[in-house]
Amino acid sequence: MPDYEFFCTKCKQPFTSHMHIKEHDERVAECPKCHRTKSVEKRISSVNVMTSKKS
Ligand SMILES: [Zn+2]
Repeated sequence: MPDYEFFCTKCKQPFTSHMHIKEHDERVAECPKCHRTKSVEKRISSVNVMTSKKS
């Protein structure tokens, strides 16, 4: 599985982690600092989003 980018809203810090699939097929990641999972938001990485807001 690829790595995903996450962001801990408690530590205000992004981190990269593998996703852990728990019993109920719930994909979570644990913050390496505070070891919480509920304060972690998943970030979408490696997505080529072409925003045409400029120009
Ligand atoms: Zn944290």
